[in-house]
Amino acid sequence: MIIIKLGGSALTVKDASTPTLDEENLDRIASEVSYYNDDMIIVHGAGSYGHIYAEEYKIGDVITNADEHLRRIEGVCKTQTSVQQLNHDVCQKLQQKGIPAIAIKPSTFIVTNQKRIAVCDTTIIKQYLENGFVPVLYGDAVLDMDEDIKFAIISGDQIITYLAYDLKADRVILASDVDGIYTDNPKTNPEAKLIDEVTQDTQLNTTSNENMADVTGGMNGKIQELLKLAESNIHSQIINAQTPGNIQKAVSGQNVKGTIIK
Ligand code: ADP
Repeated sequence: MIIIKLGGSALTVKDASTPTLDEENLDRIASEVSYYNDDMIIVHGAGSYGHIYAEEYKIGDVITNADEHLRRIEGVCKTQTSVQQLNHDVCQKLQQKGIPAIAIKPSTFIVTNQKRIAVCDTTIIKQYLENGFVPVLYGDAVLDMDEDIKFAIISGDQIITYLAYDLKADRVILASDVDGIYTDNPKTNPEAKLIDEVTQDTQLNTTSNENMADVTGGMNGKIQELLKLAESNIHSQIINAQTPGNIQKAVSGQNVKGTIIK
């Protein structure tokens, strides 16, 4: 079984001030994913569909009074509806390309404790897989057991780490909007160099892009998740979804420029 993560940066216009789909990219990416026709789970990021609300409503921050609690509830509702909309569009596009994509809403069965997944029964995902479906999950706003914060945002990256470990994935591919992990943010530092292999010991800088809301930690959050996965001996690969053909090659087992996290 392989897990493919489609980055919010590749599917949406991530620095938009309102949720905006990158329709051209989604269409091409869905076509490329359809070259794989064995067991697969797709997880996508939230991009501008999630981060805008998550940040505006400070989901995951400590709640200090009843008004804040009410506002947080409003934010969770808006975030969930928004990311579900993106998931709907992604599933519809995947289905158009012949992929039996089935939407699985993370916040209906995942509960976090201090922002880390604590409850997550994967029975239904396994059963869909066994029946030949392609489950499609995404970064979402969930309930948190911590009474001080009550709610949290889970990134698609945290979900892939959990699922890859729990369901013993053979391969994990992350498609982002950069070629992989660089020594520094390649969007702001032209001197940044691509790193072929990242391990616990790799020294690098990660910064967020200007104007880009990302409450789940951007590239740094991603690396931390993937290093956890590597500890369980599951290697992952970051590739650039903006380069036509990359996803198709990666799912077909061909070499693609990128970074391996091991
Ligand atoms: P996605 O939405 O694809 O999951 P993110 O937007 O969270 O990915 O992270 C990708 C972004 O991280 C890139 O657009 C890049 O500008 C930024 N970034 C920051 N530091 C680095 C780094 N050291 N190497 C690669 N990308 C980095």
